[in-house]
Amino acid sequence: MSASDDRVLTRILGPDGHLDSLMKAQKRFFEARPEQLEMAQAIAAAARNKNHLLVEAGTGTGKSYAYLVPLILWAVESKKRVLIATGTKALQQQLVERDLPFLHELFVTHLGTDFKFALCLGTGNYVCPRRLAKTESLGLFGDSKEVEQLQQLHRFSASSPTGRNVDLDFEPARGLWAQVNRESDLCLARNCPHFEQSFYWKARREQEKAQVLVANHHLLFAHIAAGGNAGGVLPPFDALVIDEAHHAEDVAASYLGLEISNLSAAKLIELLSNRKSGKTVISAVKWPERGELESRLNEVASEAREAVGRFFENLQMAMRFDDARSHTIRITRPNIISNELEEPIQRLENVIESALRLAVLSEDEELSRELEGFSNRCSEMRRAVRDILGQTREGYVYWTQSVPRLPDGFGKAARVPRMSLHGAPIEVAESLRESVWKQFKPTILTSATLTTGGSFDFLVERLGLSAPVLPPEPDDATNAAKVARNGANNATRSSTNTTNKSNDAVKQSNDSTDKEPEEFDVRTLTLGSPFDYPKNALIYVAADLPDPSTNVTMWEKAAIMRAAEVVKRTEGRAFILCTSYRLLDQTAQFLEKVMPRTIRILRQGEMARGKLLSEFRKDTHSVLVGTTSFWQGVDVPGESLSCVVIMKLPFAVPDEPMVQARVETIKERGQDAFVGYQVPQAVMMFRQGFGRLIRTATDRGVVAILDPRVKTKPYGRTFLESLPACNKTEDLERISLFVTGI
Ligand code: SF4
Repeated sequence: MSASDDRVLTRILGPDGHLDSLMKAQKRFFEARPEQLEMAQAIAAAARNKNHLLVEAGTGTGKSYAYLVPLILWAVESKKRVLIATGTKALQQQLVERDLPFLHELFVTHLGTDFKFALCLGTGNYVCPRRLAKTESLGLFGDSKEVEQLQQLHRFSASSPTGRNVDLDFEPARGLWAQVNRESDLCLARNCPHFEQSFYWKARREQEKAQVLVANHHLLFAHIAAGGNAGGVLPPFDALVIDEAHHAEDVAASYLGLEISNLSAAKLIELLSNRKSGKTVISAVKWPERGELESRLNEVASEAREAVGRFFENLQMAMRFDDARSHTIRITRPNIISNELEEPIQRLENVIESALRLAVLSEDEELSRELEGFSNRCSEMRRAVRDILGQTREGYVYWTQSVPRLPDGFGKAARVPRMSLHGAPIEVAESLRESVWKQFKPTILTSATLTTGGSFDFLVERLGLSAPVLPPEPDDATNAAKVARNGANNATRSSTNTTNKSNDAVKQSNDSTDKEPEEFDVRTLTLGSPFDYPKNALIYVAADLPDPSTNVTMWEKAAIMRAAEVVKRTEGRAFILCTSYRLLDQTAQFLEKVMPRTIRILRQGEMARGKLLSEFRKDTHSVLVGTTSFWQGVDVPGESLSCVVIMKLPFAVPDEPMVQARVETIKERGQDAFVGYQVPQAVMMFRQGFGRLIRTATDRGVVAILDPRVKTKPYGRTFLESLPACNKTEDLERISLFVTGI
């Protein structure tokens, strides 16, 4: 890309451009949008100048084409690779199944330029032909349904071009899939006799030929946690787009942390020694020592299995987990239970090491690799348990969780809950600076919601895109000097506050030369939505309701009744977004009693999420009552969703361990955690909820906010001012008039 960037981009994305003509040729609707072109130009400049760019682009901007077009041009011309990381499966599918095939056709037919793209899935999504073949020789499965599914998997493996679990027409039992999927530490790669037929490696070869890779946030952060391009989870890439970037901090924290669960521990032991069949990982070898070693392995595996059971029973008792309920409890002191796993897992590891020595001596490369992988897993497990129980890691928060388990696919009754122990870094800023922002240039972060109150400061600070937050020092001049030395901070501060400033920053970036920035350079851009919000959306605020922070019971009662009033006026066609399961249940129960029978009430949890959404889309007058997962990543264009009821401002639960720890850390720095963390975080979620309403230029509807604090509290303005300009009312009757179009 050079000085002709803008002309090329205009030829593609501008009025009567290539995108327009190809869309028309395919009888698809396209409208050239100035915001889309502006975003594409800013991204082209970021790629040229290797600066990072945060782009908030309102719904309808067409941001996927806005980042794909300039980055494909850049990748092809400079022989680079770009990774697009998405937060949701829906966006991933849209990119791989619709946008990228379309752009491929456009680039080939209109520009004479070819490029390749590939979807990257986690390694565990592929069948491993070697492990699948081995299940037969080991005879691991005795249950008739498992045997039947195993045969289905063999047929699938023989006929599928992909070997991916998403292409299966049945859902294999988890225990079965765990025996036949690809596991990176057990994979023999080039030394595998099945290498040429290996689904994962075939996919990987395609990925390595591609200029554009698409993955999800989880895979991106797994790649980063494994050492980035050197770790090899994904093929190496040069530039990065994090779409739906408002999630990035939490996903990063979970991947940079530690976790051990009763299920993961049991799975590891089961892979080594099958409880039902007594077969082990070394059953197929012909060594003279095998018999003795195998019975030792079965013995230590059985001890380890019992130890895992005891360990998690102790945890359950110490935490007073109730099997029927979900719990998340922060652990604030070390050694809440004794570490009964260390010794049994060490004994298991010792036996595996003995087997490994024999495998090496007998030059059995396949088994050696496998045993080495299992040995590493045992030592990682021991380390995780030690670090979590001992709380050895500085800047970490620790917690435990218990989640009830539903009956499995074979009709077995509900079993012990999934119990887990976790440790995660409270702040990821410093780690992301080193592992992402300094490594991948440019990195583009985009979403419809990156700002709060018009500023990127919150995200910039949380993600470490600014200078590290320094503790207060007695000498202000020294502090100022430290901040001024940081190139990233200078660039960010000059471009975060307003759209105009952001655009200035982007223009600066266009004008700059191709030199490598000293550390990293961050620019921002805010683009409004092309949709006509003043005409198509009405905001209703129930300012007369009680304050939920002072009288939650009265507020709940009044808000639920008001929600019913609102959805009666919109004749259903509504999402009701709650902030807790309790509120969700109470709201759904009340609506079921008072709403006319013609309006179906759907509630989160009554069926799978995808099915619930499809029922909602089909039944135009239904109401869907949901909590966290329906605030974001849900796309229901058209009449079925004409009203979004926001019951309460979505402040994160204050005693959620990570939230609590972040609040404490911010307070320790002498900062106001409510203003600096809790409000901005809630504003982002609030904007996501609002964003469910208008998905296309022809959508229209009402957003009802039933939390009066947006009007009565000083911080409430930040919430309202973060929404697109719309007409606002406190009069319920205006909803009826708006709906009937008067
Ligand atoms: S190369 Fe790895 S994933 Fe492929 S069949 Fe062999 S062990 Fe399995």
